[in-house]
Amino acid sequence: MNHIKQNIEQIKNSLPNYVKLIAVSKTKPIADIEQAIAAGHYIFGENKVQELVSKAAIIDKKAEWHMIGHLQTNKVKQLLPMVHLIHSVDSFKLAQVIDKEAQKNNKVVSCLLQMHIAKEETKFGFSEKELLTMLQMPDFYQLKNIKICGLMGIATYTDNKQVIEAEFSMLRKWFERIKNEYFKEVSYFNELSMGMSNDFQIAIEQGSTMIRIGSLIFGERYYPNKN
Ligand SMILES: *Cc1c(COP(=O)(O)O)cnc(C)c1O
Repeated sequence: MNHIKQNIEQIKNSLPNYVKLIAVSKTKPIADIEQAIAAGHYIFGENKVQELVSKAAIIDKKAEWHMIGHLQTNKVKQLLPMVHLIHSVDSFKLAQVIDKEAQKNNKVVSCLLQMHIAKEETKFGFSEKELLTMLQMPDFYQLKNIKICGLMGIATYTDNKQVIEAEFSMLRKWFERIKNEYFKEVSYFNELSMGMSNDFQIAIEQGSTMIRIGSLIFGERYYPNKN
């Protein structure tokens, strides 16, 4: 017996009404996702294209699928028909490929730009310099089939609240700066995706509009090939 329904309700009750909950279902079975749906929750996040696409094919079509993991350009084609929002755009090349495939699919794909805010080198995302470089390129604004809706970031995995707070605060400042300098004329650059199971309260204090919660809803994940 798990408590998926209660977990979702408890988290949702604690959120300001402008914060969207993404239930991160990676590695979890269809039965768990169906329990979330039975609790009235339809927004899910996955970090692997194959897993997202195969789950989306089976689950209720009302569900919304968010891609939150590093995306390889050769997987974009497969992902596009199923995805609602890509949180993890981390290069101009990837933005170009998404735009090109979106054009072929006759759609406009909503995306967030992922910034590297953590201490860990292993995490993906634009550095400040890389992000500004892209935003200053006229070519970037030729991509008419992607819609940049905001920023995403992952804080350092640590118990040190100050470190997490400083990283989220910095991301929030970048969000405001980029909105003012590059997306002032558009109505949709409004999303700041930050906060996971261990740090979402801090993220909300720092201005998050989307939290991505896995283990707090579905329980710990097991990776059979690790250790
Ligand atoms: C796995 C994952 C999450 C959810 O992590 P939890 O700690 O289980 O809440 C959120 N964001 C990204 C990018 C992830 O890969």
